[in-house]
Amino acid sequence: MNYQLKYLKFLSTFLLSFSLFFTGFYPDYRASAGEIKTENKQTKSNKVGKFILQYQPSSSNYYEFGEISAKFSNQEIRQKLIETQVFDQIITELNTSGLIMREDIPVVFQECGNANAYWSPSERQITVCYENTALDLILFNNLVKYPSEQAWRKSINETVVAFYHELGHALIDVLSLSAVGQEEDTVDEFAVVMLFRKYNPSIAAEMVLDSSEYYELLYKIGGRGPGWDEHAPNDKRLFNLVCLVYGSNPEEYEKIFIEKFVLVDPNQTVNQDKLNSRAAKCKREFPQKMDSWNKLLLPHYASQNGDQKTPVQSSPGNSPGVSRRGRYW
Ligand SMILES: [Zn+2]
Repeated sequence: MNYQLKYLKFLSTFLLSFSLFFTGFYPDYRASAGEIKTENKQTKSNKVGKFILQYQPSSSNYYEFGEISAKFSNQEIRQKLIETQVFDQIITELNTSGLIMREDIPVVFQECGNANAYWSPSERQITVCYENTALDLILFNNLVKYPSEQAWRKSINETVVAFYHELGHALIDVLSLSAVGQEEDTVDEFAVVMLFRKYNPSIAAEMVLDSSEYYELLYKIGGRGPGWDEHAPNDKRLFNLVCLVYGSNPEEYEKIFIEKFVLVDPNQTVNQDKLNSRAAKCKREFPQKMDSWNKLLLPHYASQNGDQKTPVQSSPGNSPGVSRRGRYW
């Protein structure tokens, strides 16, 4: 969509780039905000913890991104999130999934003053800021000009992916999971796995691609982002998400895979061999990630009928997520 690109390039001014990096715009799950690990406070009680959803009251402030003001106030965003009930459904499902954790985890939507979402190891809480969704709306509606309804859908999808990203941080901490590699990349993959577990594949893919588009817009506006950041650069992050979606159904998503492969190769080093090679890896990576997370999480689920000796089943990618030991989520 050339007109969109032209519009974005027009907006790619020094001021906006400056704002991007220095106005606290980068949310935690998108850039550094000091996720300092503290000692795991998990107790040895037999309590089975729950996720507790809260929508904190909000002012009628409008989030501002550089010189662009959101069209919807934080209060309107709060109302919309409540009305969609998408998070009620996610939290209910998490709480009935058979997952055993020994503490309650509040999932708090609130006004923060900046666009952010984060897991706080000290407060033991997942926070998602209304401004996080406001920024989505600015990108999808103010900048790219998707019609309002479509922009809302994309923004809520991106917010859901952001939540699952934070849930990944939370579970690595709360369950003391032995997750290796860059945690930010790991929890992006976790979010994808969770979405493909929960939703039908086309819905899950849509959500992940909306999140990928979010990073694409940031990439076009502000470039890759600073190299010191613990998060992968925007172009890498957008492509990693596309790679997994492509791996889930190569036939269906080949076109978008090629399109983004070319997009993130500004020096045009792309050739067919390289594309084929990366495509083959994406096909392998998707089932690998599904399987790896299943194995990591399975020991934390209640067994059915008290059968603790059920062998861990290795599940193929995108399997229904059910075993004798419990239901994956
Ligand atoms: Zn993060």
